[in-house]
Amino acid sequence: MMKLIHADIVYSEDREQLAVHPDSYIAVEKGKVKGIWPVIPEEYRNVPVTDHGNGVLIPAFSDLHVHAPQYLNRGLEMDLLLEDWLNKCTFPLEAKYADPGFAKLVYDAFVDDMLANGTMHACVYGTIHSEATSYLIERMDSAGIKGFVGKVNMDRSAPADLLEDAEESVRETEALLEKYSGNRNTKPILTPRFAPTCTGKLLNDLGKLGKKYGVGMQTHLVESLWEAEQARLLFPEYSCDTEIYEKSGLMDNGPVIGGHFIFPSEDDIRIMQKYDSYAVQCPDATVSVIAGIMQTGALLDRGMKIGLGSDISAGHHIGVYTQAARAVQLSKLKEFYEPEGNRKISFPEAFWMATKQSGDLFGGTGSLEPGSVFDALVIDGLSDAARELSPAQTVERFCYIGTKENIKARYINGKQI
Ligand SMILES: [Zn+2]
Repeated sequence: MMKLIHADIVYSEDREQLAVHPDSYIAVEKGKVKGIWPVIPEEYRNVPVTDHGNGVLIPAFSDLHVHAPQYLNRGLEMDLLLEDWLNKCTFPLEAKYADPGFAKLVYDAFVDDMLANGTMHACVYGTIHSEATSYLIERMDSAGIKGFVGKVNMDRSAPADLLEDAEESVRETEALLEKYSGNRNTKPILTPRFAPTCTGKLLNDLGKLGKKYGVGMQTHLVESLWEAEQARLLFPEYSCDTEIYEKSGLMDNGPVIGGHFIFPSEDDIRIMQKYDSYAVQCPDATVSVIAGIMQTGALLDRGMKIGLGSDISAGHHIGVYTQAARAVQLSKLKEFYEPEGNRKISFPEAFWMATKQSGDLFGGTGSLEPGSVFDALVIDGLSDAARELSPAQTVERFCYIGTKENIKARYINGKQI
């Protein structure tokens, strides 16, 4: 059944421009956008209207890099750098997900908070534990969240209680791929944590699984100088971090999502573009535990696909909208400190990365143009008494100072939740 929604409507026209339809009506049928009009078309005069007044309707956000098990650590130990942060803070928490009851408690809160903050599409890391990861897939799937969830694979350089042997890791991963194959909102994805914690055998065997099941991969790519150096030491036969995954057969089976991509070589960039892969900027995370800034503007200009990630809990805020603002800020620092080849990005570019650019990964989300999946938010309450904001200004201010309280309505697959 069709429905009409009245609001100010804003989405990304393209990378550089927002499409703005003030005081308009959007028609939604079978979970998809049918059209947008300034007045109700004659043939839809009897269709029920939901009126959001001066609220601004925008597409829901996509989080391309987030660790559900680290949800409990958000905003803690933010004065550590990556290697210490992993060993002192992150791995000890991840070991606790051997207990499915603990996992359920955290994953319920994680999924609820993602939705509350307007994220309806996500690439999520679990832990090495199959039962906990199964619960996360089912919980996200039943909430209607379109996404990918990975059981993490690690068979070296991690604490004993997080280490698997390669065969066991592959066997458990394959069981999840079989269990959750088919047409679902939330699907499994291969998730070797990163090169420093995976042997060549494990990566090769995961590559074979990827091919057999037609499944892509998410991992951390040239995340920090420490990580890139570890990868080079452990895999001296390859020229760069990304080549390790390419030669393991992990890049041509489905979408590839590489978190961070802060220090890529020309080879890293070439290989990622060859497979049309996504790099993910996680602004808060890279400020807090990585201490590096992505060359966002330069990579966008080279046609690289870039999305945004909250990277809980290296990042501290689960709302991807905050990361859109932070991406603009960091691009200015990048241009200021390393002017050669770098440029600042605009707010429309950041919003596009957080919505439309990532939409292909999730089956046509991230926009409100006709044909898009209607996963959307209504934001409001951001104007001042002395000055009314335009719809585009409302979206920008929301990303800088908004909270989940400013999200007045949420639609997923066309239904209000
Ligand atoms: Zn991460």
